[in-house]
Amino acid sequence: MSLEGQYDTENIFAKILRGDMPCVKVYEDEQVLAFMDIFPQAPGHVLVVPREPARNLLEMTDGALQGAMLRVKWISKAVKKALAPDGIVMTQFSGAPAGQTVFHVHFHIIPRREGETLSGHGSGQADMDELKNLAGKIAAEIELP
Ligand code: AMP
Repeated sequence: MSLEGQYDTENIFAKILRGDMPCVKVYEDEQVLAFMDIFPQAPGHVLVVPREPARNLLEMTDGALQGAMLRVKWISKAVKKALAPDGIVMTQFSGAPAGQTVFHVHFHIIPRREGETLSGHGSGQADMDELKNLAGKIAAEIELP
């Protein structure tokens, strides 16, 4: 799917936002829902999903984007405190040729460790207990301004 097209209300993140599909939640408020990626590229891979129904970053309103970016920062700081990674990758893919597979805008927070290679984008499914454990550790470190 290119940058053109219609928002599909049946995409998987829309279903998660509506509560029609489960997720391992890390944080939520009126602007975003953040949960663990079930095919993590590294342990502690979190997705921050704005509630605004936009397919990609370019379709977001300025206000929703500002709110989302602040939450990416708050949650990244919690990931740093909880997991003590050596670095953190924050990414957003707009359009299938850019690597987007779910067409509701979202931001990846991926902790990186020195010398550790990333798993493929959307590869093996994580152990659910491990995801819940990581989500609890990260959630416990979120500090709101
Ligand atoms: P993107 O390629 O940027 O669209 O990323 C979509 C991400 O969503 C991938 O990293 C997938 O592993 C992840 N993903 C897909 N389905 C689910 C799901 N049901 N719960 C959590 N993460 C998911």
